[in-house]
Amino acid sequence: MLETGIRQMRMAMSMALGRRLSTANLARLVEDALATLDEFGEPGADSAALLDGPGADPAAQPELVADSLRRTATRLADRSPFYARRFVAAEINPRRIDTDALRRVPVTCKRDLIRRPAEFRCAGATPHLATRTTGTTGRPAEIWLSRYELELWAGLGALAAVLRDDLRRDDVLQISVSSRATASVHLNAATYRLVGAGCRVLGTVPPDEALDALAEDGATVLLTSPSYLGELVNAAGRRGLGPDDFRLRRIDVSGEVLSPSLAAAARRTFGVAEVKDNFGMTEVIPVTGRLCTAGHLHFDATMGYVEVLDLHTCEPAAPGELGTLAITPYYPYRECMPVYRYDTRDVVRALAPDHLGCEAATAPASGVVLGKADALLRLPSGTIVTPRDLVEAVESLPTCPWPARYAAEVVDGRLRVTLSESAVAGLGHAGTREHLASCGIEADVAVVDDAEAQYLRAVRSDLHETTFVSSPQRLGA
Ligand SMILES: [Zn+2]
Repeated sequence: MLETGIRQMRMAMSMALGRRLSTANLARLVEDALATLDEFGEPGADSAALLDGPGADPAAQPELVADSLRRTATRLADRSPFYARRFVAAEINPRRIDTDALRRVPVTCKRDLIRRPAEFRCAGATPHLATRTTGTTGRPAEIWLSRYELELWAGLGALAAVLRDDLRRDDVLQISVSSRATASVHLNAATYRLVGAGCRVLGTVPPDEALDALAEDGATVLLTSPSYLGELVNAAGRRGLGPDDFRLRRIDVSGEVLSPSLAAAARRTFGVAEVKDNFGMTEVIPVTGRLCTAGHLHFDATMGYVEVLDLHTCEPAAPGELGTLAITPYYPYRECMPVYRYDTRDVVRALAPDHLGCEAATAPASGVVLGKADALLRLPSGTIVTPRDLVEAVESLPTCPWPARYAAEVVDGRLRVTLSESAVAGLGHAGTREHLASCGIEADVAVVDDAEAQYLRAVRSDLHETTFVSSPQRLGA
């Protein structure tokens, strides 16, 4: 039963049929996968092929990409006022587009989405849920999603997670991201609902309350941001909580740089084998990225096209060079308010596709996200210092200052890093300079008091949500 269903689903996904997939069939397939696992303990040989998707065959990839780009562009030219105009201005025939012609389509920026959101809405699609970006870079963009999109992504996500054993019926997910990240929250809740597993949407409440929920009610999977994870690890340390107090089997994070120091501390504190550092972004859902064991960020070629573009010329970045990720989710995986060549401004290193040599080598890949393009610092020597360089160096200080609060700027040709008193405690200026140098960062060090330090760098866990648990006793109560 499952084998037949999987074959049919592969066919539907690989035929580039330009029709919407049946979300009801997808939900039944998730049921079949669970029943097969219950009976046989493993999903069967064909399931791996489904996970790799139709893009797994390297010989078929160029044609698949071109077909998908054309299908998506053709629909946008008919239904999206923004892209109809854009293709005409660039003298692009959407029915003829390929990866070369694609380079003549200007990238879409967050600014476009903020200024003209209505022009991205496609005729004929029914908006159901609005979601706003919750990153730390300025005004939010608002994306409308259709009911079909949410059901489709939840179905595809549930099926892949069940077949990978990332999601079991007896799992309980604790969502500790901003409650305003409605797409992420609804999508995860819908995915867990399809499998019949538990889901607790907690938001970024005071860390002690999140720890109480994890410890007392026994969540098995935690979804959060690296900065909030840092707060949880510190709070657990203060309370003397350790692996025996939790029953987590995995932690998933995304949206910020996860440093090796914090990842190791989270593994020790919560007793998990792995903290999964995934790539995901509201504007380009459902295209996501996963790290392989070689440390590449791999993208699902079925869902969309991923480019690494030179930061200045917007041409493809050469292997080894820095570039920004530009992502085009394909139709029929996105229908309501799609983007085409969306410039995420997330900086990565381009990789040579023929030399990946890892277990996920058939899926397109880049290096890990190094930070936002406007946060790169260039020294007169030509050296570029990235937010990842700084977060990793600061978070490996012996004081465990998680999440990293710092400011960095180039002053008179030298890098200056500002840190809090408590972050540099025990090391002083000279010791901190030495520590940064041992991480490959030659910098002068400035120190501010702790109260001021919280304003040095915005992080996602700054979106704290208050509760009445620890509020003062009310007058007259
Ligand atoms: Zn890899």
